[in-house]
Amino acid sequence: MRFLDLHCDTVTECLAQGFSLSDNPLHLDVQRASCFDTWIQTFAIWIPDTLRGKDAWAYFERNYDFYLQQTDLCGLTRCVRYADMERVVSEGGFASILAVEGGAVLGGMLERTDELYRRGVRILTLTWNAENELGFGCQSEGGHLKPFGRDVLRRMDALGMIADVSHLDRIGFYDVLEQTTRHVLASHSTSEAVLRSTRRESVDSRFSKRRALSDDQIRALSAHGGLIGLNFCGSFLGDPGDDGVQAAIRHAAHILELGGEDILAIGSDFDGCAMHADLSGIEKIPALYEAFLRNGFGSALCEKIFFRNGLHFFKNML
Ligand SMILES: [Zn+2]
Repeated sequence: MRFLDLHCDTVTECLAQGFSLSDNPLHLDVQRASCFDTWIQTFAIWIPDTLRGKDAWAYFERNYDFYLQQTDLCGLTRCVRYADMERVVSEGGFASILAVEGGAVLGGMLERTDELYRRGVRILTLTWNAENELGFGCQSEGGHLKPFGRDVLRRMDALGMIADVSHLDRIGFYDVLEQTTRHVLASHSTSEAVLRSTRRESVDSRFSKRRALSDDQIRALSAHGGLIGLNFCGSFLGDPGDDGVQAAIRHAAHILELGGEDILAIGSDFDGCAMHADLSGIEKIPALYEAFLRNGFGSALCEKIFFRNGLHFFKNML
């Protein structure tokens, strides 16, 4: 099968724990991806909210060097334009695309946006959970995109970088949709309404709901030609005791109902979150695909969710 994933934290996690990308005990490695004929994986360099300014940039550089080294060792094609991806798709094989999760990487310097682009970064998640120089994350007090955030978004639009609104506060989310001239990505998100329908209440689940997309956000993304990657994180899908695959199907069905069949892809969040056992690794994807088929998602729709919608989005955006 063919698989395109819009988000994982595996590079950051491998470097932190001293593992390789080719073979590790984490959620994702290249050897286990041999179950796919074609595989396009977005690797995010996650910037922790404890890092700001030059520390954030230095952390990015360490992870960036590691990404180059590991993708070379694994023979992954690093995609920086759609033609790179198209070649992998026509010949079969494995490819990567680079993202940075957290606009704090810029350290408040607009020209760093160009530097990221020059190095092949094609997706920037504007915030992580806290406030940064661009705006407010979903775990902060919230608020509008800051003037620097607006400048960065304008620069990203001009360069052809993709703005990722997963983790962004809702007010900022609508600011991005209003300002940008391009399509918007929520690379790893779930549905707030489906999450609310699960009964367990805790501090963690309240956070998860703010992190998830409201029905209105899903409709707004759809109206703007946006794309949502379905997140497998256990607490974002529902109760920890729940069946992860069935929870993923409930979220997918709801997002498709609101947003249409072009809106949904996969954004696993592998190695960024604790997962239900039945979703806890890239080797579980073929079984998830089969479960989608058994639950009435047609094969053409499954191909769109697991591969084509993401590919089409990159075709428009890169
Ligand atoms: Zn994330």
